[in-house]
Amino acid sequence: MTTTADQPAVLVTHHPATGADAASYPVAAPADVRAAVEAARGAGEWWRSIGWKRRRAHLSALRLAMVREVDTLAGIIRAETGKPFDDAVLEIMLAVEHLDWAARNARAVLRPRKVRTGLLAANQKAILEYAPFGVVGVIGPWNYPLYTPMGSISYALAAGNAVVFKPSEYTPGVGRWLADTWAKLLPAQPVLQVVTGFGETGAALCEAGVDKIAFTGSTATGKRVMAACARTLTPVVIEAGGKDALIVAADADLDAAAKAAIFGGMGNSGQTCAGVERVFVVDTVYDDFVSRVTALASRVRPGDGEGDHYGPITMPAQVDIIRSHISDALGRGGRALVGGLDAVNAPFVAPVVLVDVPSDSLAAREETFGPTLVIDKVADLDEAVRRANDSRFGLAASVFTRNRRSGLDVARRLRTGAASVNSVLGFASIPALPFGGVGDSGFGRIHGADGLREFSRPKAITSVRFASPVDLMTLERSPKAVPSALRMFRLRHGRR
Ligand code: NDP
Repeated sequence: MTTTADQPAVLVTHHPATGADAASYPVAAPADVRAAVEAARGAGEWWRSIGWKRRRAHLSALRLAMVREVDTLAGIIRAETGKPFDDAVLEIMLAVEHLDWAARNARAVLRPRKVRTGLLAANQKAILEYAPFGVVGVIGPWNYPLYTPMGSISYALAAGNAVVFKPSEYTPGVGRWLADTWAKLLPAQPVLQVVTGFGETGAALCEAGVDKIAFTGSTATGKRVMAACARTLTPVVIEAGGKDALIVAADADLDAAAKAAIFGGMGNSGQTCAGVERVFVVDTVYDDFVSRVTALASRVRPGDGEGDHYGPITMPAQVDIIRSHISDALGRGGRALVGGLDAVNAPFVAPVVLVDVPSDSLAAREETFGPTLVIDKVADLDEAVRRANDSRFGLAASVFTRNRRSGLDVARRLRTGAASVNSVLGFASIPALPFGGVGDSGFGRIHGADGLREFSRPKAITSVRFASPVDLMTLERSPKAVPSALRMFRLRHGRR
């Protein structure tokens, strides 16, 4: 990215494969961001007031626009990220599924409901409501520039919030398309706006008076966002990076496991937060599995042409990180069975399969975010789980086994926000499931009912139905009131 010397400052995007200039966008200054949040506040009140049914209709219109303009939108995603057109289409399909689910289910999940009062307040009615926050600031990354932020935007909107979205400096066009499309559908109400710019614009959004921030990006930036939000006690949901493991049991379908390792590790050039980075294989099938993975990896073709499996590394600085991980692994006794340092040919990186990598090396511990796999031998599933869990990240993981019960057992023992048995990334396409991590992968949940609640404030309301015969809530209560309540209490709670 570059800024021009002219005012206002301009953000210029480049085609990742060629480096050629692509488009330019204004850089929103703090005052612009505050103005957007101010406009969103008014629009948000209107949005909240129109109710579930009308909100659902407006969100359906956005969904329809995404489907009708799938080619245009996929073209923007491809131009900004460099990913193959079909991958961009798949990303749009995923985003549409989530938008549809959020719009359809918001009422059922969040509508006011009566809850039991219990003995002490038996004369009251108790109502649980979920109120929108007001204005939610969404800060997104570039690797899935539509699907990832829409995982927050769809649920925040469906819950009745207005949204101000700051896309990554590498993918402002996707955000622009969303905001322009919304403006065409509902010109009078800026319920969904975009502010383009660099990290400073994201930082300004954290301080512009929003009621919640939904951040997706690296752990380091997530910590900065949280620190900024701490100053105003603005709540945050943090969706950060991962170092996801795939476990291969002795009884696994090795073809399926190898295919999944390649797809999960190399797809989207390895630039997937919940992509496979580490593989732990039980020793009896290690050699067999490794030979299948290396055969498949050798057929994978990066490039910018029709039929290439994945595109360039979107963010130029990431190439150096990938190179440093490979170099560190090789320098410390690791071996590259496919690729190696020569696989790095910026902006492309060919598949790299590493073995014998020390467990404290960069490639084994830090998020590589490139098309690399580190494969390790383990004695059994217990060791696999222990090694997989030995990470500061905890986004997702997967296990391959023909024993479904054992697969579910392993899935439950993995210290991650999601786990898949005999597939990778399946959870991301199921809107009813929550998505989020533990540890350095972040906290809070997007997607599903938990995602809708993440963008709502639970509110407790009580209403007196009749005067209590034993009024405990007065300083003038009779000396008999508590003993009489205690008698009822003993009847209710004094037995097993
Ligand atoms: P970054 O953390 O670099 O950036 C994320 C967003 O934060 C960008 O919009 C960025 O703007 C903005 N930003 C930068 N500095 C600040 C700041 N001080 N205050 C507020 N916002 C700021 O991540 P990447 O864009 O490089 O994305 C890749 C990362 O995202 C990987 O670690 C990946 O694992 C993670 N990710 C996590 C997902 C999840 O759901 N858990 C999903 C997808 C990705 P700008 O780009 O303009 O600098």
